[in-house]
Amino acid sequence: MLSVVIPAYNEETAVPAAVRETAEVLQQAQIPYELIFVDDGSSDGTWQAIRAASRADACVRGLSFSRNFGKEAAILAGLEAARGDCCAVMDCDLQHPPEKLPEMYRLWQEGWEVVNGVKTDRGRESGFHRLAVGIFNRLLGRAVGTDMSRASDFKLLDRRVVQALLSLPERGTFFRALAPWTGFRETELEFRVEERSTGESHWSFVSLMRYAAAGIAGSTAAPLQIVTVLGCAVLLLALGLGAATLADALRGRAVPGDRGLILLLLALGGCLMLSLGLLGYYLGRVFAEVRQRPRYLVARSCGMGEEET
Ligand code: UDP
Ligand code: MG
Repeated sequence: MLSVVIPAYNEETAVPAAVRETAEVLQQAQIPYELIFVDDGSSDGTWQAIRAASRADACVRGLSFSRNFGKEAAILAGLEAARGDCCAVMDCDLQHPPEKLPEMYRLWQEGWEVVNGVKTDRGRESGFHRLAVGIFNRLLGRAVGTDMSRASDFKLLDRRVVQALLSLPERGTFFRALAPWTGFRETELEFRVEERSTGESHWSFVSLMRYAAAGIAGSTAAPLQIVTVLGCAVLLLALGLGAATLADALRGRAVPGDRGLILLLLALGGCLMLSLGLLGYYLGRVFAEVRQRPRYLVARSCGMGEEET
């Protein structure tokens, strides 16, 4: 059986379409399936829509978080609840085309344990967005050791990979980078990013930046090494400048005024503060990990075999 995990945050209008299209595609391909919707603390009628779909169709199951815990948490909760031999993760807004699921399933049947949906194009994005995403993907790609430029959360995973992901004790997970990290046999399947079926994207500039920072910090400690490199560079600069000043003084030449000194101090102060901020960020993440809080809290569920709550 294939479990399709669908995180949904304020998607009341998108849920019925997602159920209809996905069910149709999978029935036609004669793939046994279940759809697991995870309502990520929506403030609209998303949960009602999921419950209605679950009542009408026994293949639809649902979880609802007590509040918004983020897409990463929703994906993990869905994987935890999944009973399939393989699990696909798909957006609710049909930007990840369900028509690709049968193809992913066939690849899994051929023995691939991770089928990565990769974007053929990135849809409509502004120039700045493109640049920021480029830098982010390069950094992340280096940390993970695979090309992340076309990577997405649209994936199909074998049960073994799902168990591996669920066994990770850390709180700050980054799904997109973790699937390649597990090292299971993986392949790619291209898809075109469609326009959103309905509603609008939940990402603001700030939330995207936060997501990017969390993605990098959750995958690598390499940015902390920037501090070391910066420190070495500043130290070398100071040594060179000191030597030059000493030479000037020994030759009896006038030592340049204090402007250079102020600039140097500013540069040094800037580097130090940047470094401290970076250390602080990672320290904050360590703090979040040692607190060991649950990644999400489920308030309600439906179609899970037990009494509806
Ligand atoms: N999503 C979620 N929790 C959030 C934000 C988004 O579960 O806090 C879900 C959302 O419902 C959708 C998927 O994550 O199914 C992708 O979100 P969105 O379409 O807003 O992102 P975009 O496609 O613009 O990257
Ligand atoms: Mg979307």
